[in-house]
Amino acid sequence: MSIPSIARRVFRLIRGRRAAPAILMYHRVIALEQDPWDLAVSPETFERQLAYLKSHRTAMPLDQLVEGLRNGNLPRNAVAITFDDGYRDNLVHAKPLLKRYHLPATLFLATGWVGSSVPFWWDELAGWTLQSRQAVDYTVLVSNETFSLRWGVPETADIDGKWRASGEPQTARQRAYLGLWRKLRDVSQAERVRVMASVRGTFGGVHNSLSLPMNHADVQELTQDGLITLGAHTIHHPALTTLTAEDCREEILASTQQCRMMTGVETSLFAYPYGDMNDGVRNIVAGSGFASACSTRSAHINVAREDRYELPRFAVLNRDMAQFKALLNS
Ligand SMILES: [Zn+2]
Repeated sequence: MSIPSIARRVFRLIRGRRAAPAILMYHRVIALEQDPWDLAVSPETFERQLAYLKSHRTAMPLDQLVEGLRNGNLPRNAVAITFDDGYRDNLVHAKPLLKRYHLPATLFLATGWVGSSVPFWWDELAGWTLQSRQAVDYTVLVSNETFSLRWGVPETADIDGKWRASGEPQTARQRAYLGLWRKLRDVSQAERVRVMASVRGTFGGVHNSLSLPMNHADVQELTQDGLITLGAHTIHHPALTTLTAEDCREEILASTQQCRMMTGVETSLFAYPYGDMNDGVRNIVAGSGFASACSTRSAHINVAREDRYELPRFAVLNRDMAQFKALLNS
């Protein structure tokens, strides 16, 4: 073995031992056939990840991690678990496992979606496009831009569930999904609601209850024993940089108030929908009494100079344990 390769090994060993604090970002705990954004982790994978965290990391609630960061006394192996949006599978699949391992978590809840009878818009869109098995010829107008939904029987790349929205679309269904997703993400709430209602009128939809947002009773059940607490994630889940400062402030503050009304507990934590933020959005959050805000930047926390209003988070994927350990020890 050469000297440089020994040095690299020693360096990796030291770095591994010096694990830096990390925040983990989950969305869903469920097995899915189509998951273009890698939002879901199966219950079995989630349990293996929790077992590893329990024995190898110091897991703590996110507000405690933020407090430790402020005070400079954060353990190097500190980890906080977070969920975004408020899917019903968080209550049915994730909570029993978090209880079994006594691991706390924070749910960043998009409060306007609580009690919705339809899935989050990006999931409903995936149902119409990626999961559809019917031939379709349909045109939809979104903010004066025409989108064609035109396809025949599904191609192999539609069925195998391997395509990710971060990659090039391979089929008409995938192109339609990604094109509409990008457009709908940035239009006004009113336009998004109008377009979704219009397409729903034609395509309809049957929804598995686990794929719906939680209702009020679900949120109360999820948070009642204090193991899982809420953070704010806006009301409608807009891309905040597309809003006026006034609308941005309203989305942020009203969702915080709704979190408090639902649980009776104040939250000082916020997460930017889609990770979409800029200095203006950051400063609104920082000036609104929050202790901290989470982004979707993938990194460990740099305890020496981390901006508390742009904390990085690792998106946890439905992969094997080697990938999970590599992420934590990267
Ligand atoms: Zn979100």
